[in-house]
Amino acid sequence: MKKHIAVVSGDGIGPDIIREALKVLGAVGAKFGHTFTTSSYLAGGVALDAVGIPLPKETLEGCKNSDSVLLGAVGGPKWDTLASNLRPEKALLGLRGGLGLFCNLRPAILYKQLSDACPLKAEIIGEGLDLMVVRELTGGIYFGERGRSDDAAYDTMAYTVTEIERILRKAFEIAQKRSKRLCSVDKANILNTSQLWREVIKRVQVEYPDVEVSHLYVDNAAMQLVRNPGQFDVIVTENMFGDILSDEASQITGSIGMLPSASLREDSFGMYEPIHGSAPDIAGKDLANPIATILSVAMMLRYSFGLQAEAESIEKAVSKVLDGGYRTADIYTPGMKKVGTNDMGSLIAQAL
Ligand code: ATP
Ligand code: MG
Repeated sequence: MKKHIAVVSGDGIGPDIIREALKVLGAVGAKFGHTFTTSSYLAGGVALDAVGIPLPKETLEGCKNSDSVLLGAVGGPKWDTLASNLRPEKALLGLRGGLGLFCNLRPAILYKQLSDACPLKAEIIGEGLDLMVVRELTGGIYFGERGRSDDAAYDTMAYTVTEIERILRKAFEIAQKRSKRLCSVDKANILNTSQLWREVIKRVQVEYPDVEVSHLYVDNAAMQLVRNPGQFDVIVTENMFGDILSDEASQITGSIGMLPSASLREDSFGMYEPIHGSAPDIAGKDLANPIATILSVAMMLRYSFGLQAEAESIEKAVSKVLDGGYRTADIYTPGMKKVGTNDMGSLIAQAL
C-alpha cells in the first residue's frame, strides 16, 4: 500500500514526539511492505513566527491533498498574548473545520503496566480499561445560535438528522471493529435534540444488527465512568457531552502522555494527534513521552488505511516496551528504567 501523510509538528514538544512517531511509521512500513511518504507543513506558533498567521493556506491545502494528517501540538506562552484570531490554537479549529472532520475518537486505555497511575481503586479497574469515546465535533451548542444582553445570555443546542446520522454511523462502524457494544449517551428526558438523537439511532441500528445498543443519560454516564468503567466499550455522544466525558475518561487512565486521538469524516481521511498539548516546559529536552503520538499513528493505520494487523503490531510493541520496564519521566515509578523521548521511540520501533 502507498499512502501520503501530511505532517504538522507544531510547537513545543510537537517536533520531539513527531520525530519518534515517524520512526515507528517507517518501521511498520518496512515490516509490512507499505510505502508511507510524508510532507511537512507549518501550523500554530511556528507558522505565526514564519508567516504571521496560525494556519497558512498552504498547510490546509497540503493536508487536503494527503491521505491523512499527523499532528503534534500547537501553542505556547510565547504566543499567549496575541489577539484571539492570531492564537496558535486557531490552527486546530481551522484544520478541523477546513477538513470537515465531524467525528472525534478518544480512546481511554489503562495499561496494566501503569495501573499505579490510575486514580480509581484496583477493584473498580479489574482487568484494565479500554474504552472509546466517539464525540460529535461540528454541531450542538458550540455552534448554535447564541445571544447576550446586559442581564441575560443564551446558547442553543441544535442538531439535524443528517448530523446525527453520520456520527452514529461512524460509531456503529467503530463498534463493529471492537466488541460490538455501543452505548449512546444523551439527556432524552429533557432535551429535544436528545429525543431526535434517539429516533435516529432507532432507525439506524437496524442496519447494524450485530451491534448491541444501550442508552444512558449523561449524568448517569458520568457517574458510571468512575464507578464501573469496565461496562463500556464504545460510547457515542453529542459535542459537549463528548467533550466532558472524554476528558473524564482520559483522566481515569492517569497518563496524559499515553493517549491518542483521531478526527474523522465520512471518507477514510483523518487527522491524528495526541490528546495532550505542546508542554512547552519540557520541549526539546528529550523528556516528552512519545507514546500518545505513536499510538495516534496506530489509529491512522486502523481508521484511515484499514490496516488492522499493522495497527495492532504498534500497540503490541508499545506494550512490550512497557513490559520491559522502560518509562519516560511522566510515567516513571521507582525500580523502572528511565528513558528519554528518543530512546522510547527507538525501543518501540525495534520491538516491531
Ligand atoms: P493545551 O492547553 O494545549 O491542551 P495544556 O497546557 O493544558 O495543553 P499540556 O501541554 O497537555 O497541557 O501539558 C501539561 C503538562 O503535562 C506539561 O507541561 C507537561 O509537563 C506534561 N505533559 C504533557 N504531555 C506530555 C508528554 N507527552 N510527555 C510528558 N509530559 C507531558
Ligand atoms: Mg496549554
